Amino acid sequence: MRKILHIDMDAFYASVEQRDFPELRGQPVIVGGRPESRGVVAACSYEARAFGVHSAMPSSQAVKLCKNAVFMPPRFDAYRAASQGIHEVFKRFTAMIEPLSLDEAYLDVTESALTHGSATEVAALIKQQIKDEVDLTASAGVSYNKFLAKIASDMDKPDGIYVIRPEVAEAFIEQLEIRKFYGVGKVTEKKMHALGIFTGADLKQLSEVELQTEFGSSGAYYYRVARGIDDRPVKAFSKRKSIGKETTFDGNIVNKAVIWQTLLGIAERLEAVLDDKKMLARTITLKIKYSDFELNTRSKTDANGFISKQQMTAALPELLRKTEVGRRPIRLIGVILANLYQIDEMPDKKSNNPVQEHPQLGLF
Ligand SMILES: [Mg+2]
Repeated sequence: MRKILHIDMDAFYASVEQRDFPELRGQPVIVGGRPESRGVVAACSYEARAFGVHSAMPSSQAVKLCKNAVFMPPRFDAYRAASQGIHEVFKRFTAMIEPLSLDEAYLDVTESALTHGSATEVAALIKQQIKDEVDLTASAGVSYNKFLAKIASDMDKPDGIYVIRPEVAEAFIEQLEIRKFYGVGKVTEKKMHALGIFTGADLKQLSEVELQTEFGSSGAYYYRVARGIDDRPVKAFSKRKSIGKETTFDGNIVNKAVIWQTLLGIAERLEAVLDDKKMLARTITLKIKYSDFELNTRSKTDANGFISKQQMTAALPELLRKTEVGRRPIRLIGVILANLYQIDEMPDKKSNNPVQEHPQLGLF
């Protein structure tokens, strides 16, 4: 039997702000764009959540719910530094660490539990060391697979430890609301409800074939997790450093429309690679070779990561504007994705990301 932890920092970005700016403690803090600039809530403190504010909500709506909200612009350098500190703690207990985002990771502590006591004790030690060294609280889920560990970490937030033991797993899943199943987003939840599936017990009534008919390749996953079965290994940080695609033109190009079309094609090819490898990239780099062979690169890092063509193309105009593309002829253009992470291949993962507007040519 494996011992899997899911460690999830509590209101991560907002907690980092409250840690670094003591006057924000106890305040409803929203990290994200301001309402007047049509911003979106990236994260919010528990004080803000009490008013019904949640992430991905338009800031204009958030301020209606919570008029005393304190808006803070994101400070990704601070979040990355905290994330590194958290990973330093993880590494003391296992090399099998699979980050899901800056503030969330699965850990396989099967071996570690032999030297440090039970998996629950390992979770408590990790939480304590994070508190001591990074001055933030985390919640831990403890179970025998990733599916259950992830659900468990959400059960006793904030600053909690929740354990789902093998002998109670099936009963636990039976009473679980379907929206709590990892991979069930709003769209899938609706579909499940339409099929009369509201809990794990309902899900169990459908055969594997029925589930595959309704949910395609995710059907087999639902069939298994409804029974507490999830053999997916904890996949350590990808060894692969980057993925790049580029196009060399026949001549020297200045035409923005041609260049943009080329970039759309490159983004599409990169999306296919990411999809195939179940990866997410946090850094996108634009690579340019001018007609005189001068090489130029411009990068951007986003904690939410890039998965889709839309997300990549939304980031590109900003990078293009930092080059002479469109004014000075180029002979090659490419896009490189780095800072790669494995992701879980759950169906709603993509649609959960806020859809970004398609950038217009005039933007660069
Ligand atoms: Mg979190």
